[in-house]
Amino acid sequence: MLVNMSTLMADAEKNNYAVGMFTAPTMPFAEAVIEAAEEMNAPVMVGQVECWKQYGDIEIYGPIMADMARRAKVPVCLHLDHGQSIQYIMKAVRSGYTSVMADFSMLPFEENVEMVRKCVDFCHSVDISVEAMCGKMPSVYDLAEQPDLDIREYFSNPDELKEFVEATHADAMTISFGTVHNMKIMQPMLDFKLLQELKDATDCALVMHGSSGVETEQIKQSIPYGIRKINAYTKLSTSAQPALQDAMSRSEEPMFFHELLDIAKDAMKNAVKESIELFGNGYDFSSRTW
Ligand SMILES: [Zn+2]
Repeated sequence: MLVNMSTLMADAEKNNYAVGMFTAPTMPFAEAVIEAAEEMNAPVMVGQVECWKQYGDIEIYGPIMADMARRAKVPVCLHLDHGQSIQYIMKAVRSGYTSVMADFSMLPFEENVEMVRKCVDFCHSVDISVEAMCGKMPSVYDLAEQPDLDIREYFSNPDELKEFVEATHADAMTISFGTVHNMKIMQPMLDFKLLQELKDATDCALVMHGSSGVETEQIKQSIPYGIRKINAYTKLSTSAQPALQDAMSRSEEPMFFHELLDIAKDAMKNAVKESIELFGNGYDFSSRTW
């Protein structure tokens, strides 16, 4: 069934787990995410990100994915990740998305608040949820360009978070407390003292981006602090390569493209299931009726 993000955040809060949001730039990836969630009997979020629009036009993918979500046996929220312009966010709204991230974190605080408030006003009137970001999150590419960068300068501020949520009524807030985008190898060090202060500052669902480089124990530890949505892409997406290499090295015949897609999809599906299990924080999804 197709649901919005606030429905999922309320259930996650009640049962102390986090919902996985898996970016799916291509359709086999979207199928892998939804099939994995169905096999786990768990809710899930799936979506596209504005900066990768070259891999799929959301005006084409949106209606197809919304239909896949409606047919799913579990709650599925169709989410636009890192929407960075009103035009693109409105495109997602028109294309069947039930949740958008209005990411104006590149702007000064007041302008970020103002842009998100405008998006919330419109999106809530049509039952679409809105995520925003308070603070900033670097990527590994930023860190490579500026090796002396102190990522603490990007961290969310509890007072600003409180003010942001009160002014915008956003449904979920991405916070910066040590994770980094596109992380494969380095271990981010999460600041749990700051996470506690951020949790104390608001009742809003908190979101972790850049989870792929975070060790599993730190992910588990962070969920009881009110982390209700966790974005994952790098770890899942890179799981396809070893599976493909293994299959290709064993094949004596040239392989068909659809066979390669199936192998990649299966590998990603297993990785999505592992993430759903981890983010579930021990919650027994198998006994739920949706
Ligand atoms: Zn992100």
